[in-house]
Amino acid sequence: MYVSDLGEQWHAARLEPALAHLDSASAGRSSYALIGAMTAHLWRETERGSYVAADDRAEEIARDTRNLAALIGHTGDEVVFRESARAALRALLTNWSLPVTSTVWVAKNEFGPNLEEFERRGYAVRTMPDGDVYGHVDTDALENMLQFEQPDFIHVCHIGSMSGVVQPVTRIVELAHRAGVPVVVDMAQSVGHVPTVTGADVVYGTSRKWLTGPRGVGFVAVRRDSLRPVRIDGSEAFIAGRLGLGVAVRELLEIGQQRVFRELAKIGTATRERLHGIASWEVLEPIDEPSAIVTLAPPPGWQFDDVAAARDKLLSLGVLVTAADTWRAPLATEHPVLRISPHLDVRRTDLDRVADTLRTMGY
Ligand SMILES: *Cc1c(COP(=O)(O)O)cnc(C)c1O
Repeated sequence: MYVSDLGEQWHAARLEPALAHLDSASAGRSSYALIGAMTAHLWRETERGSYVAADDRAEEIARDTRNLAALIGHTGDEVVFRESARAALRALLTNWSLPVTSTVWVAKNEFGPNLEEFERRGYAVRTMPDGDVYGHVDTDALENMLQFEQPDFIHVCHIGSMSGVVQPVTRIVELAHRAGVPVVVDMAQSVGHVPTVTGADVVYGTSRKWLTGPRGVGFVAVRRDSLRPVRIDGSEAFIAGRLGLGVAVRELLEIGQQRVFRELAKIGTATRERLHGIASWEVLEPIDEPSAIVTLAPPPGWQFDDVAAARDKLLSLGVLVTAADTWRAPLATEHPVLRISPHLDVRRTDLDRVADTLRTMGY
C-alpha cells in the first residue's frame, strides 16, 4: 500500500497523521525520536540552566554538525546556524565583501525572495540559459558564456520552490570554478531529498522540509578554500532545535542517504505517473525527474484563487498540498501551480484521492 519499501518504517517512526500529508516542500513531519530529543532538552534547560544544558550536549552537537556538514559536502567547522534559509542567505550577503556593483547569475527556477535580497543590494541579476522546456540549466551554453564573461558569483536553487526540477549543480560548479567564479547553492529544497555533495563554495538550507527536522533552524556553510571566502559568526541559538535537526540527519544516515534519495525519486515518478493526464491538469516535470516535488498546471484560464480553492477542497477532504503562486519563481512562470510533495510514507490511496479530486475540478 505504500509507494516505497521504506514507507512502513517511515510511517511507524511518526505520529499517525490526521490527513494525507503531501507537503514536505513546506515542512516535513518529524519523528517521535526527534520530538523526544527536543522536549528532553527543553526540560533540561529549565532543570540545569540553558547554558549548562547546552554544554552538557556539546559533544553531541559537534557530532551532529559534522554529520550535517558531510551530507552537504563541507566540514563541521564550516557550518553556521541561523533561524531559516533566508536568514542564512542574508548573513552570507551581509558579511561577504562583494564589489559595489556585483553581478550574479541565477537559474530560471530562482526563488523570488532570494531575488529580492539581490535586488535590494543592487546586484545585477542575469538568468543562465535553460536547455529545455523544464528549465534545467544548459551547461554547454553556460560553459560558453563563462568564456566571455564572469559574474561575481553564481547562485543556484538546487531545486526551486515551484518545480521538481533538479539543477545540474555539480556540473555548474565544475564549469564555474574553471572560470574562477564562486557558486552559492540554495539547498532549502534539496537537502535530505537528493544528493547534496556538489563542491560549491557556499551552501545553505533549512531543517524543516525534506530532512523533517524542526522549524526555526537554518544553516549556511562556506568552504575555507572558497574562491571568495567569508566568515559568518554564530548567533544566539535554538539548541533544542539543533539537537532535533541532529536527530533528523542521523535518521537519514541510519536508513542510508542514497537509499532515501532513490526512494524519493521513485515516489516522484509514481506520483507524476498517477496524476499525469487527469482532466486538464498537466504535470510540469519530466515523469522521471529524480525528485519528489510534483507540480501541476491547472486547467487553462485558472487564476491563483482557483488553484487555492482546489487546495482548500483537497484539505477539506483530508489531503494537504500547496497552492503555489508565481512569486516563488518569477523568472520561470506567470502561472500558479498545485504542488504535491510526498515523503517516504505516501500511500497509493493518497495519490488516488488527489487524482479523484482533481478529476472533479478539471474538464
Ligand atoms: C523554503 C525555501 C527557502 C526559504 O527557506 P526558509 O527557511 O523559509 O527561509 C529558500 N529557497 C527555496 C528554494 C525554498 O523552497
